[in-house]
Amino acid sequence: MNIPGRHAAPRSLPRLTRSPTCRLGPLATLLSVLTAGALTSACATTHGVRRLADGTEVHTFRREWTNAHLVVHGDSAFLVDAGFEREAPGLAEAIAAEGLDPARIRAIVLTHGHADHAGGAGWFQRRYGTPVIVGRGDEGMTASGRNEPLCPTDDTARDRLASDQGATYAPLAPTTIVEDALSLAALTGIDAEVVRLPGHTEGSLVVVVSNAALVGDLFRGNVFDAGTSVHFYMCDLEDNRRDVAHLLGELAPAAVTFFPGHFGPLERSSVEDAFARLREETSSVRP
Ligand SMILES: [Zn+2]
Repeated sequence: MNIPGRHAAPRSLPRLTRSPTCRLGPLATLLSVLTAGALTSACATTHGVRRLADGTEVHTFRREWTNAHLVVHGDSAFLVDAGFEREAPGLAEAIAAEGLDPARIRAIVLTHGHADHAGGAGWFQRRYGTPVIVGRGDEGMTASGRNEPLCPTDDTARDRLASDQGATYAPLAPTTIVEDALSLAALTGIDAEVVRLPGHTEGSLVVVVSNAALVGDLFRGNVFDAGTSVHFYMCDLEDNRRDVAHLLGELAPAAVTFFPGHFGPLERSSVEDAFARLREETSSVRP
């Protein structure tokens, strides 16, 4: 995307874009106050950039706790997740503010069909004709615009369950459904691979590019530090641990950076430590 002035902006510092439609619960409001200056308000967009080993850039736009990642290489770009539907116009503005043209995004990969990741994709599809890629098993959610039942894993999730479970979006029709794996090279011009990894949802996808992986809600970052945590919603924790081991060992053995759907990015050691700790905790409570 060769757009004049693109490199005029500072690349390493988060930039803020105010969100006109931000809606926060009391907990999120409290957290946004507590983290002001460090993570910035949850009622705004933060923007950060990581450069990968092959020169690919991952631009992370965070709104309402949720990340949308724009993967950019040369003149090509694709988006991994698109946030809530209500945030899509603001996301497009934030992308444009970085000198990246949202009309030229070649595809949107939805790591899964939950409203906080998939909701904005239909807006881009309607406005720009952007192709949308969904994993087999989540097309029911994108067809209905409704989340399947969520299994909270901690008190924060239990507090948020009603609003997260009830979040909806306008139904959308995927352009491509991924059965097992899909190369993005032909469609996007970027050497990246989408792999289906059922767990958080049946159609959950991860994207492997250069020495990184974008993992959706396979796990999450922490609010206050660089650590990794089990995602807020996960129905089978044993299966989740196996999936993470499969990701680290087979799907993305060269990945050193992981971009989750919430907070992050995360270093490999942070992910390994978190899931090794979980394995120990689980085995220690077994008879
Ligand atoms: Zn999710």
